Amino acid sequence: MVREAFSHTAVPVQAPAGKTSDYYGVNVFNRDKMRKYLSKETYKVLTEAIDNGKNLDRQIANHVASGMKMWAMEMGVTHYTHWFHPLTGGTAEKHDSFIEHSDKGHVIEEFDGKILAQQEPDASSFPSGGLRNTFEARGYTAWDPSSPAFIMDDTLCIPTIFIAYTGEALDFKTPLLKALSAVDKAATETCQFFDPKVKKVQTNLGWEQEYFLVDEALYSARPDLMLTGRTLMGHESAKNQQLDDHYFGAIPTRVAAFMKELEYESYKLGMPLKTRHNEVAPNQFELAPIYEEANLAVDHNLLLMDVMNRVAKRHNFHVLLHEKPFAGINGSGKHNNWSLMTDTGVNLFNPGKTGEENLLFVTFLVNTLMAVYKNNALLKASVASATNEHRLGANEAPPAIISAFLGSQISQVLDKLEASTTDEAIKFDAKGVLQLGVGQIPELLIDNTDRNRTSPFAFTGNRFEFRAVGSSANCASAITALNTAVADQLMNFNADVKKHIAAGETKEEAIFAIIRELITASKPVCFDGNGYSDEWKAEASARGLDCEVSVPVQFDAYLKPSVIDMYARTGVMSEVELNARNEVKWETYTKKIQIEARVLGDMALNHIIPLVTLYQSSLLDNVYKLKQLFEPEKYKKLSAEKLDLIEEIESNMDAVHKMVGLMVEARKVANKIESEREKAVAYHDTVAPYFNKIRYHIDKLELIVDNEMWTLPKYRELLFIR
Ligand code: ADP
Ligand code: MG
Repeated sequence: MVREAFSHTAVPVQAPAGKTSDYYGVNVFNRDKMRKYLSKETYKVLTEAIDNGKNLDRQIANHVASGMKMWAMEMGVTHYTHWFHPLTGGTAEKHDSFIEHSDKGHVIEEFDGKILAQQEPDASSFPSGGLRNTFEARGYTAWDPSSPAFIMDDTLCIPTIFIAYTGEALDFKTPLLKALSAVDKAATETCQFFDPKVKKVQTNLGWEQEYFLVDEALYSARPDLMLTGRTLMGHESAKNQQLDDHYFGAIPTRVAAFMKELEYESYKLGMPLKTRHNEVAPNQFELAPIYEEANLAVDHNLLLMDVMNRVAKRHNFHVLLHEKPFAGINGSGKHNNWSLMTDTGVNLFNPGKTGEENLLFVTFLVNTLMAVYKNNALLKASVASATNEHRLGANEAPPAIISAFLGSQISQVLDKLEASTTDEAIKFDAKGVLQLGVGQIPELLIDNTDRNRTSPFAFTGNRFEFRAVGSSANCASAITALNTAVADQLMNFNADVKKHIAAGETKEEAIFAIIRELITASKPVCFDGNGYSDEWKAEASARGLDCEVSVPVQFDAYLKPSVIDMYARTGVMSEVELNARNEVKWETYTKKIQIEARVLGDMALNHIIPLVTLYQSSLLDNVYKLKQLFEPEKYKKLSAEKLDLIEEIESNMDAVHKMVGLMVEARKVANKIESEREKAVAYHDTVAPYFNKIRYHIDKLELIVDNEMWTLPKYRELLFIR
């Protein structure tokens, strides 16, 4: 094969004219467009609804729709779609044209408030976990005005939620919005102990998207990459990431061209991409926007993943968003930088300059730790998937245990606070600065953020960084769980403070007393050491943290009675919804492993065994001819190594054959299981373990067989873009 010769030159970049700020958001119905295309009154009502989560009536929706239509048609748009996030993990859209019959036998463009506000896409094939079979097959999409409509190609895309006829959520966005609002409500109440002017608390999210690029032609020659998103076989390249020479290295020109165009397209869609760089593994990259309000940030991440694929095609690349596309080198994650901010402009995770600010900061910090402690199993389940399973706990990413890193300075502050009496803690100095025993939390901390890469939930100076999220995931899952947990904890805290005050304590006394208890209670989840070490696994288990490594079993965390109660209390999801979602999670898990097993079996039997047999035959032929030509003594000498090789090939081929057979048997047994949970567990326990065993032998064969005969592109070819 001439695979090594495969190298495109960079595709010329299509750059928009002007500065970034000139074309930023041109494809978005943002506030500028709203001002231009809506009446003053409509603009006012709409923006107020967006800012304060108020409902919009039909008349306003009609006005908005007509403004949107005017804008979209000026932009050459002919179609519209409700854009939503079904539980498949991606995004969904069903395009309809604007045209309708007019009275005069003609067609005209129509788009009114009814179409904008609600649609009924048939969409009955999306996973619903049984929600739509038992009651009604109908599913509705409903407009989310807080995420602006945008244009992709010739289509106006309207972000929507997706719910069943009976009201249950069938998507990721609905519970996310509810969880964001639960935190808003609870955190606002907490803030009001400090500052009655606070009326709203917003969740901010800044994700960092890691991904791999592979050449499109090589990708197309790998059925495993195409069908499962990862390589199910492939021997390590002699050189991979040992030298760390890819990390932050110069970006290859072909890749730079892709990145530039991706940025142009993203800017046009109003996505504030800020950072781009090479990652640790060869062909691995990262990009990150400036953080945004969490609902918008989630939409933007999904949109970005879509835009990445489109732009990559033009540059003859394929984007791999799988968490572990290649064995032996790093996988990809999506760190979720998370913080809470008041409408008075205070970041609640920013250590303050005054005593009052510091107390506010400590209150939110400690409540978050408590929420993470109580819900560590749930948070793990919220990021668990068949694909992320390869990464978590694999010594390159956070372990399959959720703990929080604070860094030594913050830990010291909490320790001092825990040990101090209320009187000591409440001493204000002349300037009204609160003495937390260690004085003010040094400002320096903000720049001196943690670089402990082994922690799944790290405090990084002015935010928490939830790092266990997978690169292909919808961040909504993690953020919904985290916000639900934090909202619930803050609700407890608020109620406790009120109780203490009712019992005669001052507000400060009440808050300090509760904070001290929370510091002590949440200690087991705080861990500043090396999360990759075996000692930590033992220690975490002793501390009572969830150490379950099997993904299907991790999902059980969603159905613990305490968790079901918490979701009900916060109004984020009902028990019916939680049950339905778990059915979908188990079913998806099973399907992913099932597809991998099939692909691996097919490749082993249809690609590997035939080509290895061919090579082995050529060796046998050679040995046979040696025997014809040479004296027995000489023949023995000449053929010894070849005969060994023939045997080695035979034993590896035999192992592949046998284990594929056993894997198929295990699948047949698992397929008969009725319960989605038990089936997923069986796939995890009895089918998936064959994957590495089979690939071990195939990878050995890859090293033996003539390079010219090996039809699959190898790691060394897939991993180095020139
Ligand atoms: P790294 O963690 O690799 O150093 P950056 O410092 O560039 O990365 O930040 C990563 C992400 O965190 C960016 O999206 C950034 O906007 C976001 N971020 C910064 N401050 C906050 C905050 N207070 N809340 C939420 N996200 C934040
Ligand atoms: Mg980071």
